[in-house]
Amino acid sequence: MNQRSYFDYNATAPLRDEVREAVVAALSIPGNPSSVHAEGRAARRAIETARTKVAALVGARAEDVIFTSGGTEANALALAARPGEARRCYVSAVEHPSVLLSRGVSQESPAKFPVTRDGVADLERLAGELAVLKDASPFVSLMAANNETGALQPVARASQIVHDAGGVLHTDAVQAAGRIGLDMTALGADLLSLSAHKIGGPTGVGALVLKPGVSVEPLLRGGTQERRRRAGTETVAGIVGFGVAAELALADLTNVDATAKLRNELEQGVLALVPDAMVLSGKAERLPNTTCFAVPGVKAETIVIGLDLAGIAVSAGSACSSGKVEASHVLSAMGISDELARGAIRASLGFATTRDDIKNFLKAFGELIGRLRPKVAA
Ligand code: PLP
Repeated sequence: MNQRSYFDYNATAPLRDEVREAVVAALSIPGNPSSVHAEGRAARRAIETARTKVAALVGARAEDVIFTSGGTEANALALAARPGEARRCYVSAVEHPSVLLSRGVSQESPAKFPVTRDGVADLERLAGELAVLKDASPFVSLMAANNETGALQPVARASQIVHDAGGVLHTDAVQAAGRIGLDMTALGADLLSLSAHKIGGPTGVGALVLKPGVSVEPLLRGGTQERRRRAGTETVAGIVGFGVAAELALADLTNVDATAKLRNELEQGVLALVPDAMVLSGKAERLPNTTCFAVPGVKAETIVIGLDLAGIAVSAGSACSSGKVEASHVLSAMGISDELARGAIRASLGFATTRDDIKNFLKAFGELIGRLRPKVAA
């Protein structure tokens, strides 16, 4: 394959070289981390080292990190009902499907609170709903950053509102982690979800991080692993890779301005080529690596396929559900018309993105748009 330019970090970031090396080495540790012999202890040490690194990424304590099979399971564990607790569950309308479709607290379908046209949670509406809540304390889930638009969400303010109402706040930080600095205490989050493959770690591993003193009801039972909060022999190599990725992501936070600069160059280049393109959540505070723009009159799949043939990987709408061409629930919650949403492209950058990648993108995009919309490009 010719040199390709990858702009789909929000779907999965490429595996970092240091992670690959660490994973391969960890695959050779023969022991089960629950065994008392030397081999088992070596596996346990590898896991605990990774736990410390993952905790550091979000300013948490190692013992409050529960390793899971990814962000989806971390969200499900966060939202699992706790027996005996009367809770009403509220989620923002732009959450990832793993939150929106979770069985939710008390198995109720969760109440959704809206977002503005810029894709930012409307906390006045949330506060209004919580104010009239009588006999149940709220459980609120608000993501730290949206996967499609990159819009940052007001988690710290939300946690104040939720705590004042005697409730609990969960934040899905799968996209925000490693892209902006995150601190559990500053966010005021009671539970926080992470996923390794969005930050250069392997797929199939993530974590739910708890505020000290917060407990969860296990989804998986039958073993004492993860302090009885998630049964099953740990994926030692995956967890080791997650630890290395978290350590690198934390160190890389000093580069976010450079990433934002490249993202802005890409966005400005797109607008120069297609002046009627619309940057979604363009007025909101956003992740430095994400741009989502809609090209009126052209279907996103056509652009995705055309760019792919030219060596550029991007996604249409949410890549987490790529393959199906449905209007994105995120863009409809923002009040974007279905027609415009059908032309929405997401480009997401990361640690390996270079200025040459931006040049490659704009060249391929310009040629494609010239073919698809000859009059506009001329
Ligand atoms: N939450 C968000 C915001 C995501 O973007 C994703 C991505 O797919 C997930 C959760 C699910 O994470 P995972 O793929 O690790 O299950």
